[in-house]
Order: sequence, then C-alpha cells, then structure tokens
Amino acid sequence: MNKIYQKLSLGLILLAIFGFINLQCSTPKNVGHGFDLKGMDTTANPTQNFYQYAVGNWVKNNPIPGEYSYWGSFSILAEKNYKVLKGILEKSAKDTTAKKGSNIQKIGDFYYTGMDSAKIEKLGFKPIDKQLKSIASIQSKKDLIGAIAMGHKLNGSPIFNIYAAVDAKNSKAHIATLSQSGLGLPDRDYYTKKDKRSEQTRKKYVEHVAKMFTLLGNTQKEAAKKANSVMKIETRLAKASMTRVERRDPHKTYNKMSYAKIKRLAPNIEWNNFFSYLGFSAPGYFNIAQPKFFKEVNKMIKRIPIKDWKVYLTWNFVNGVASYLSSDFDAANFEFYGKYLRGSKVQSARWKRVMRTINRYLGDALGQLYVEKTFPPEAKARASKIVQNLKTAMKSRIENLDWMSETTKKQALHKLASFGVKIGYPDKWKDYSKLNIDRESYIGNVLKGRIFAFKRNMNKLGKPVDKTEWGMTPQTVNAYYSPTRNEIVFPAAILQPPFFNQKADDAINYGAMGAVIGHEIIHGFDDEGRKFDADGNLKDWWTKQDGERFDKRAQKIFNQFDSYEPIDSLHINGKLTAGENIADLGGLTVAFTAFKNTEEYKKNEKLDGFTPAQRFFFGWAQVWENNMRDQALRLRLKTDPHSPGKYRVLGPLSNMPEFWKAFNVKPGDKMRMPKDKVVKIW
Ligand SMILES: [Zn+2]
Repeated sequence: MNKIYQKLSLGLILLAIFGFINLQCSTPKNVGHGFDLKGMDTTANPTQNFYQYAVGNWVKNNPIPGEYSYWGSFSILAEKNYKVLKGILEKSAKDTTAKKGSNIQKIGDFYYTGMDSAKIEKLGFKPIDKQLKSIASIQSKKDLIGAIAMGHKLNGSPIFNIYAAVDAKNSKAHIATLSQSGLGLPDRDYYTKKDKRSEQTRKKYVEHVAKMFTLLGNTQKEAAKKANSVMKIETRLAKASMTRVERRDPHKTYNKMSYAKIKRLAPNIEWNNFFSYLGFSAPGYFNIAQPKFFKEVNKMIKRIPIKDWKVYLTWNFVNGVASYLSSDFDAANFEFYGKYLRGSKVQSARWKRVMRTINRYLGDALGQLYVEKTFPPEAKARASKIVQNLKTAMKSRIENLDWMSETTKKQALHKLASFGVKIGYPDKWKDYSKLNIDRESYIGNVLKGRIFAFKRNMNKLGKPVDKTEWGMTPQTVNAYYSPTRNEIVFPAAILQPPFFNQKADDAINYGAMGAVIGHEIIHGFDDEGRKFDADGNLKDWWTKQDGERFDKRAQKIFNQFDSYEPIDSLHINGKLTAGENIADLGGLTVAFTAFKNTEEYKKNEKLDGFTPAQRFFFGWAQVWENNMRDQALRLRLKTDPHSPGKYRVLGPLSNMPEFWKAFNVKPGDKMRMPKDKVVKIW
C-alpha cells in the first residue's frame, strides 16, 4: 500500500483487487424539507444552467477549507463522520484496561502511537533503517528480486503489483493477478505528455525526489543524480503501461497464463525466487493484466544496473511511508502531493490523518464501533425498500426498451434478478486476531498492517470467493457495484443527508439516494459492466445487433462529455468517464421511474414552491454541489473516471425529457441536447 494506494487511486486499486466501481469519493447538509433553498441562485435560469440555479449560492458561499482540495457534500458528510470516529479513537486510546488483542486495544494503541508526534519526531527515519539497509546491501540479481518482494509485502507495488482478485472468467474463484505499477506520479500520462504543464510537473517531481534523498543524508549533488535515475526508470515503466482508457476494457486486461508461461514471458524476474521471498508458493495460473508491460520490465531488470535499482527501490519505499515519518519527511511529501498536485493549502489535523490510516488498516474494527453508534435498523429498512423499488423500476425499463431484442432483454432481466444487495455493514466482520498492534511505534503498526493486508489478500488464492465480504468499510461515504460479484453495496455512512434523509420528502430521497442506487444498478449495464453476466463472469450475453446498438448509443455520451471543457484547454475524457456518465443518466432515469410510483408524485402538490418533479432534480444537484481547486480539477480530469460534480448535473439532465418537462426546457435551451445528439440508453 504505497503512496499510490493511499492518495492517488484508492478507488482504482481497490477496483483492481476487489473489482468494483465506486460512486465517487466525496458529500453534505440538511435543511428544511431536505433541500437547501438558500443555496439556490434564483437569478440563474434553470433552462440554461441548472447547476447554477439549484446550488449556485451554495457554491459561492462555501469556499474550500485550507486542508482540502475539494469541498462538497461528500466531504461535509465525511467530516461529520470523522467527529464520531474521533470520539471512538480517543476513548479507545484512553482505555488502558482493554483486553490485549481486542479491537479496542488495537484501535486505541494505533491511535496512541499516531498521535505521539514527539516520539515520531525523535525517531526521524530510524524506524525504516532496517529496510533501507537491506536495499543498500543488494549485490546480486537474486538480492534485487528479494528486495522487490519485500517491497510488495511492506509497501504495495514497487515496479508492478501482485494480488489475488476474483477471476473475471470464473467468478467463484480467485486468480493471482499481475499488473502494471511502480510510478510516483498519479498516472503514466504524466511521464509522456509533452505540454508545458506536464513538463513543469515532471521537473517539480524530480526536485521532490531529490529533496527526499537529501533528507536521507545524501548531498544535493548525489540526490539530484539519484532523482534522475528514478525518473528514468519510472518513465520506462510509464511508457510500457496501458492508459486508463485501455484499462477500462476488461478483455484487454484479461490474459490468463500458466506459471510456466509467465516464466517464459519474463524470466529475469526469477519468479521462483520472487515467490520464495514473498513466502507464498507460486500458483498454477495467473492473470497478467498487461503482458507488454512485463516484457519491458523483463528487459529492464536485465539492462538497468543494480545501483540504479537500489536508488529506485529506496525512493519507492520512502515515498510509501513518508507521511508516517518525522515532520521533515511528512512536510516535504505534503508539499508535493498535497500542495503542488492538489492545491491544498495546509495539512489536515494530525488526528484526521491518523484516523484515515487506522481506517485503512483496521477499517472493520473501527466500522463495527461506528455502526453501533450511528446506524439505526430503521435506516436499513427504508433504504432496502428504495432499493427494491429501484429494481422494480429497472425491470420495467428493460421490458420497455425499444432498441433491444427479446433475447437480450431476457438475459438482462436475469442479470438484474441476480443482483446481490448489501446495505449498512457486513454480516461478518474482518478478523484482525492475527494482526498485532502495540504502543511501540506508529510506522511499526503501519507496516504490520500492510503485511497483514497483503497476506490476507494473497491467502485467498486457491480458496472460493467469499460472498459476504465487503470492499468498503461502513464508515465510507460512497457506494459501489462489483461486476464480478454482480452486487450493489451501500455503506452505512452514505445513508445520511443529503443522500438519504429520514425527514425529507420522497422527491429529495429519490433524486439523491434513489439516483445513487440507480447509478450503481446501471453500472451492471454500462459499457464495461454489460460485458459481465448474471454470475459475474466476463461473458458476452448480448446478440450482436443489440451490442452494436448499445455501442452506438454509448458513442453519443462519449461525444457529449468530450465536448465539456471545465478548465483552460482541458476537456473531460468521454471514454474514461463513460461508465460513470452512463450510470448517472441511467440511474436518474430509473430513479425517476420509481419516483413516479410514489403517492407524492401522483398528488403533485408543491412544497416550498416547487413541484415534486422539480424537487427530485434538486435532490440530485444537492449531492453534487462542490468547489474544487484548479490543481485538483486538472488531476481529476486526467485520472478520475468520474466527471466533475457540475457536469454530473448538467450532462445527464440535458438528456432527460423528464427534466425538460419539469422545468419547461425548450429546444434550443442549453439544458436540452439537440435532438440528434440526445443520449438515451436505459
Ligand atoms: Zn459509479
């Protein structure tokens, strides 16, 4: 779990391991009948810019707090949860009588070491001395392979990644998966793009790497040289890596090979040694997600001198633990990843950062205590009912599609009926009994947490998929669909205002939580999800003609989002964001269909001056109100499969006749796509 895991693509790495597509890492507030009237900008015209009209004043009046690069309903709700979690952590840390080995002892001790900044300061980088020395002592290729294996156990992914994932073509089993990795910048494109800003980012990155080497005791000159070696290695890895758009195609990333074949493909990785250092016996089969990448790594291992690999591995390791070391490392790390890349002004309070770390390594232990405090059974019951209503609405939409044959419809309905649903928290909590946490050292606990997570994952090889397992903790403000499990999952933390509000009317709840549920359902039928069948296997269940019809419709949404330009000359990448955009449009459409069945819609009485249909769309806009720093927006446009919040409102709504009717949007208005460009899929 290196830097990339922690800050850059938590969702994406989890996607690789667990196979899910999340809603968005971010959310809110609660006023009056569930919609914040004061947040509206009534001087704006809803037919021209609905986002401005619905939440324009909110956007104006809610600047981003210094520690954030993004501020919106997701972060506001997350902050609310943090207060609950902080109470749990502080209480646990004070409880010195907690039974050794209990979750409370582990959470409490972890928090205690994380908050003991005096000790962390005093130790400097001493706690990783052993690992650094071991890298420094590499002499042979065999040692090198050993050090790479150590990195995988302690740090996530030097050079490449290895983990157990659900086998996309046999969803009951796990398969050892090898995938590209090893970069310190957020994406391979950062190394290859020729524009000025990318060049500047590379320059800044090399400076940052050099800075970290000076903190390790190198002279400026040595450090600069080492940083260049790192850049050279990472650039080669980047050039051999697939783009994010390529990686969205599950067929491209599925290449099952026997162990013998892997050894032939990349003999220089010395796989027997690698597995023996890893402490696992090599499995018989692998999915090698990017064969071309491993061919390049194979060449690199042979040709790049060992002294350069030592430099790379040192950087990779230090970068992965910098935020747990003394303040000089921590501050330099924040300066580049927080300030420069994301535009944050100041670091979050220490307790928040420690809390996020504990969430990562003891997430279920903390989650168990969290749901006891926050999640009433009534919330689960009402959410379950909405999920059921959404599934019913989706069923009727499939049945009534005018472009799909009966043969494919039958399969689609079968897939829908097979959906698993998880709400709130898992029936079975993760067992941390083999993870020993103590009051000795913060980074010591982090490293133990990483080894535990690595082993826990790798131990799944050879065992059937556990259907009860969750890919998110209950305290996460998010939701996901897993194509290989064919299930939708809604953690307790998202079942709160403004997503889900016990006090709000149906319009707001269907426009927010209903559309979120619809969004996750549609992921099972978006351009990626549709390639998986009812059992979660990568298998084509479409007639050829229906598949082509789908692609033609999807092409329209690629084009629509490609045309948006949120900042300077940077456009949304229609192909990268296609799955999410399809899910938003389909999710809202299905949620509106379900909403039409409620008494509230049928009565059609105004509330706060607005019709139920109008309030439905306010519910959605309120979920996506946000402010984002320019740096974070640029980063997101390059790396995030989710479009920025504003376009998640403008984009789908301008395709929806239900919206046009609610706000009397006429042809030619900005909130109405021209007839030949309107997207309608589900
Ligand atoms: Zn999504």
